[in-house]
Amino acid sequence: MENKCALCEGELKKKSVDYKVYGKSIGKFKALVCSSCGEQWFDESVSRKIEDAEKKAGIFGLSRESKIGYSGNSLIIRIPKELAKFMKLRKETEIIIYPEDENKLCVAIK
Ligand SMILES: [Zn+2]
Repeated sequence: MENKCALCEGELKKKSVDYKVYGKSIGKFKALVCSSCGEQWFDESVSRKIEDAEKKAGIFGLSRESKIGYSGNSLIIRIPKELAKFMKLRKETEIIIYPEDENKLCVAIK
């Protein structure tokens, strides 16, 4: 990971990148950016700073493991409180659910 991209062996350049999580910018961080595939590489201290910024923004660890439940004839998915808060979901919020592929389900707010 010195000056070649571990994914495509492209040339890495030092850049300050605007780091986005779930579409929200949480600040600029130093990275090595591949000039060929665009992959961004962060060193450990920067990764820790990013984690801190995510925690500050209340968006750290929003992805969770969950299980499909059962209610009447429907299958239900419980949405963790933090995730609901981030997406401003409430009871009666209208949503559209659709498969992105066979392994991914999307929930979009109407
Ligand atoms: Zn690359």
